Amino acid sequence: MRKPFIAGNWKMNMDRSSAVELAAGVKAGVSDVLGADVAICPPSVYLSSVAEVVAGSNVALGAQNCYHEDKGAFTGEISPGMLKDVGCTYVILGHSERRHVMGETDELISKKVRKVLGGGLEVILCVGELLEQREAGETEAVVRVQVERGLIGLSEEDMRNVAIAYEPVWAIGTGVNATPAQAQEAHSYIRGLIGSMFGEATAEAVRIQYGGSVKPSNVKDLMSNPDVDGGLIGGASLEAGSFVEIVKSGISAKS
Ligand code: PEP
Repeated sequence: MRKPFIAGNWKMNMDRSSAVELAAGVKAGVSDVLGADVAICPPSVYLSSVAEVVAGSNVALGAQNCYHEDKGAFTGEISPGMLKDVGCTYVILGHSERRHVMGETDELISKKVRKVLGGGLEVILCVGELLEQREAGETEAVVRVQVERGLIGLSEEDMRNVAIAYEPVWAIGTGVNATPAQAQEAHSYIRGLIGSMFGEATAEAVRIQYGGSVKPSNVKDLMSNPDVDGGLIGGASLEAGSFVEIVKSGISAKS
C-alpha cells in the first residue's frame, strides 16, 4: 500500500508574513495526520522562513525548481545543496509552467532530476499533455516521452526518491479538472511505463500524484482511483483550510 502524498505548490504567490501564516495554518491543521506525507513548496525566497515554522512537524518543505550544478557562475540559480541547507526534502521539477513558460526541455529537466537525487533530495517530476495534444489523441505519447527522458539514467534505488505528478496542462489553474476516469487512465499508463523501465516492484512503489484544479470537492473522487496516490495542489494550497481539507479527504479516499 502506497502512502498518500499531497504537496502544495504555492508558485509565485505570498509575501513573507502571509507565507509564514499559511505554513502555520497547514502545520496546525495536519498535526494529527499520520496517514499521508504532506509537503508545502513556497517561493524560494521564503523557504527559510517557512522552514522555521514547519521544523519538527509532519509538514515537509519542498522547492519549486533548482539548477543542475553545485555552485558557480549561474546568476539567479539555486543548487540542490542550497535547498537542502535550508531544510528542503523535495524539489518539484518539470512543472508545466517551467516547460511551457520558461522553455525547459526534457534534457534540462533530466539533468536536474539526477542532480537533485544525487544531492540527497527527493524529486516530484511533473508530466502532462496540452489540450491540443489530448484532443489529437497524443496524451500517452507525450507523457511517455516526458517520463522516459525525465527519468533517463536513474536506478531502481534512485526511484525510491521520485514521485511523478501527472498534471494535464489544460487542467492547471483552469478550474477544469481531469475526470477521475481520465486521471486513472493516465496514472495507470504511467505506472506501466515505470514498470517497463524499472521493473514491477518499482512501479508498485512509485507514488503518482494528480495535479490540475484539485479542490476539497473533487479530491475524494480523484484519489479513490487505485493509481492516484495523492495530489499536487496549486490554487487550493494557498488557503490553509482548503489544503488541510484536501489532505484529510484524500486520506479518507484511501482508507
Ligand atoms: C499546479 O500548479 O501544479 C497545479 C496543479 O495548479 P492548480 O491546482 O491551481 O490547478
